[in-house]
Amino acid sequence: MNPCVLINKEKVFQNTKRIVDMAAAQNISVFAVTKVFCGNKNIAELMVSAGVKGLADSRLENLRRYADLPVEKWLLRLPMISQAREVVAVADVSLNSELETIKALNEAALEQDRKHQILLMIDLGDLREGMLPDQVEPMVKAILPMEGIEIVGVGVNLTCYGGVIPNGENLGKLEEIAKQVETLLGRPLKYISGGNSSSLYLLEKGEIPSKINQLRVGEAIVLGRETAYGEPIEGTYDDAFLLEAELVECKRKGSVPIGEIGMDAFGNKPVFEDLGEILRGIVAVGHQDVNAGGLIPVDPNLSILGASSDHMLLNLTTSTEAYRVGSRIRFKMDYGGMLKLFTSEYVEKKWV
Ligand SMILES: *Cc1c(COP(=O)(O)O)cnc(C)c1O
Repeated sequence: MNPCVLINKEKVFQNTKRIVDMAAAQNISVFAVTKVFCGNKNIAELMVSAGVKGLADSRLENLRRYADLPVEKWLLRLPMISQAREVVAVADVSLNSELETIKALNEAALEQDRKHQILLMIDLGDLREGMLPDQVEPMVKAILPMEGIEIVGVGVNLTCYGGVIPNGENLGKLEEIAKQVETLLGRPLKYISGGNSSSLYLLEKGEIPSKINQLRVGEAIVLGRETAYGEPIEGTYDDAFLLEAELVECKRKGSVPIGEIGMDAFGNKPVFEDLGEILRGIVAVGHQDVNAGGLIPVDPNLSILGASSDHMLLNLTTSTEAYRVGSRIRFKMDYGGMLKLFTSEYVEKKWV
């Protein structure tokens, strides 16, 4: 089937192991975040074999597939109150910020005769999920009497919505809150979860506050870069995943359309730069499978002109490769590109 994502087993393993080792050197455990590859069980399993201590995903459908894998499963997105029963049945731990939802989880846990573990999410400025610091104490006090719920940690998520970068100050605040919760509970917390791939730069600099003992890492493992500044992580690969798509047309044509310019297939009025006559290629992949802006051609002399639903247009003029119809062209991808490629059922996922 065409097109396909090539998954390099060795590189995925190396990337995972490198980040697990880097974190372990500072007594931090890594949970692999698997949502970007839609909970592909084989990939998750490979990451477990490379040393991650748990699997975390935003969707229950994905976590369900991991039932027989011998690690903790965390639900990352705040639970839907309507799914409280399934959350308790499928996830060992869920991330929470709403008392109403925690009450529903408690009832579901008592019904199922088990204890559900939760992490309290604290908003330290990124303005996505989490309670504000002054809401922590009343929250913990309200949860304490619930027999179906165990608070196992506190966590923060940064650089996701607001773009806020983790540093000694906001993660220091998380440490303080952790201490406060431990005092209220009268016992230590198992997890002080200091964020996602954007916290790794602090790890590299040795500046992560010492009480942080866990990170939830997606992008850095799959794409080999931290996400605070987008820098590559030494010892990892940025091409563990590659898109391969086939050339279905290859012709010399102009670079500016001829005729009155109306709207493109997505209702935008396009503008064009006149590059004269160029060698244009079309590969059989499009917006339905990927956002063209999220791809980086492996051939540095090739550029992406744009895409419609099923066609992606390339400028092949300056490439030294002898492309022709049937050639398979490879692209690296960014996070958004990868998310869309894995979500598209028209794209094959192939191990290499
Ligand atoms: C997606 C997500 C992560 C992982 O983020 P990366 O930048 O891919 O490492 C961690 N925590 C939560 C709550 C998430 O939603």
